[in-house]
Amino acid sequence: MMRCRRRIAVLVSMLAAGVVLVQCTGSGPPRAAGPSPSPTVRSAARTPLTPSGNAVQPVTAAELGASWRPGCPVEPTQLRRVDVDHIGFDGRTHRGELIVHEDLVPEVITIFEQLYRLGLPIERIRTADQYPGADDELSMEDNNTSAFNCRGIPGSNQWSQHAYGRAIDLNPRLNPCVYAIGTFQPQNGADYLDRSRTDPGLLHKGDPAVRLFTGRGWRWGGDWTTPIDYQHFERP
Ligand SMILES: [Zn+2]
Repeated sequence: MMRCRRRIAVLVSMLAAGVVLVQCTGSGPPRAAGPSPSPTVRSAARTPLTPSGNAVQPVTAAELGASWRPGCPVEPTQLRRVDVDHIGFDGRTHRGELIVHEDLVPEVITIFEQLYRLGLPIERIRTADQYPGADDELSMEDNNTSAFNCRGIPGSNQWSQHAYGRAIDLNPRLNPCVYAIGTFQPQNGADYLDRSRTDPGLLHKGDPAVRLFTGRGWRWGGDWTTPIDYQHFERP
C-alpha cells in the first residue's frame, strides 16, 4: 500500500503478552488484535491448469467512483479494468477485477496468470471503489488485492504509484505495511507481523510469487526498510 495513510493503529507494545492497539484517528473503537484464523488452502485439485482468459475494458470517471477525482495524475482514459482469475483460500478459481495503467495491462495479465499457475492463494481482488470512500485501510483489512487508487504518500506531496495504476497490493492483511516507528497497516494485520510464518498467501523474499514481479522490473516493498511494505509491488 505504499505509504499507508497515517490513519493507523499504533502498536504500543509488540512484546507484551497482549498487543494493544490505539487508534490515532477515526470514530470507532480500536479493534482487538486477538488471534485470527490462518487462511488455509483446502485443495487445488479441481483447479484447471490455465485461467479462463482476461477481459480488458476501459473505465469511466463514474465507474472509478471515489478512487478517482479531477486532479489525479492519470485520466480514466489511461486506465483499464482487467479481469483476472485467482485461486482462493477455498482452493477454487475466482474471478477478480484490477484497475491498472493501460501500459501495464499485458504484464499484469501475465503475472496473474502465473500466480494462478503457482497456486498462490489470493483472498479477493476488488477495485478500490468497492469500499466506502475508496478507503485503503478498509480494503487492506478485507485482505483485498487491488491496484489503482488515487492517493498520495502521507507526509509528502507525492502521489503513490497506486495513483498511476502502477502498483499492486497483494493479500494486504497477510502482508502488512510496517513502519520503523512500530506502527503498521492494516489494523487487523498484527498476527502477520511475524514474518517467520509460512501461511499460504504470505510473501517472503525469494518466493516464486515475489520473483514473478521483480523479475520483470517491479519493485517489492518487502525489500524496503522504511516502511517495509510486504504487500506492495510497483512498476513506476
Ligand atoms: Zn501499495
